[in-house]
Amino acid sequence: MSRIVYVNGEYLPEEEALVSIFDRGFLFADGVYEVTSVLDGKLVDFDGHAKRLERSLGELEMDQPLTRDDLLEIHRELVKRNNVVEGMVYLQITRGAADRDFAFPEGATPTVVLFTQEAPLIEKPAAKTGLKVVSIPDLRWGRRDIKTVQLLYPSMGKMAAKKAGADDAWMVQDEFVTEGTSNNAWIVVGNAIVTRHLGTEILHGITRAAVLRMAREAQMTVEERPFSLAEAKAADEAFITSASAFVTPVVEIDGQPVGRGVPGPVAQRLREIYIDEMRAAAV
Ligand code: PMP
Repeated sequence: MSRIVYVNGEYLPEEEALVSIFDRGFLFADGVYEVTSVLDGKLVDFDGHAKRLERSLGELEMDQPLTRDDLLEIHRELVKRNNVVEGMVYLQITRGAADRDFAFPEGATPTVVLFTQEAPLIEKPAAKTGLKVVSIPDLRWGRRDIKTVQLLYPSMGKMAAKKAGADDAWMVQDEFVTEGTSNNAWIVVGNAIVTRHLGTEILHGITRAAVLRMAREAQMTVEERPFSLAEAKAADEAFITSASAFVTPVVEIDGQPVGRGVPGPVAQRLREIYIDEMRAAAV
């Protein structure tokens, strides 16, 4: 069935939605994106995503083409028009179309595209079985804190994982884990929950921020610091966070079981807390 999507001010059937071949998103990956989950037909942590979008645009010296209220309205309209109960809304803003030139064009109109994707988020097999990950070197560019659409290396990482019989890859730089191909990486060591500190080496996950806050509110001990691949392999538990995976346990790294090789209690508890709280606060 055809979806209704949003392109530059219009709601259109997906077959009629067009973007120029000169769009800098297409030619230079000169664009940013956000993925906001939908639960019970409502948006999860919309404000967090809207704030990060503003930051990403600012870092790339791109104008914010729509206000936060406009964006919320478009997100809601798409969810409504497509009857999405569970799934996500994808948003992409590029610098727009211009003659091909490495220098940023002056006066280009940003391209704004949004579409919905239905998917089960709560009842996901991986939440119960846990994920198997493999490690790969982190060969991405140095500004991973900007949520750009240059996702080819993470995409290659996901394929490398699949070929190795795993579900995903954790990227490693100087022996320390940066993050997953499309998620933030966490481990549990004793009573401490550990995730890498913020910086330019990782994306500042919206789910990461929420889970950190919730863990602290639940009096859990959290440490924001680098952890090595060796430490992860010897950890009691491991898990990932992202807008669409919420909190999902990791049970194997490079073929070695993490802890007992089954989803751990901390990851399971945090997943419950996250879903309950986000469901109640969704807009
Ligand atoms: N790191 C990377 C590299 C990602 O692509 C994502 C998801 N887009 C995340 C972390 C998780 O971020 P969020 O919780 O905001 O979805």
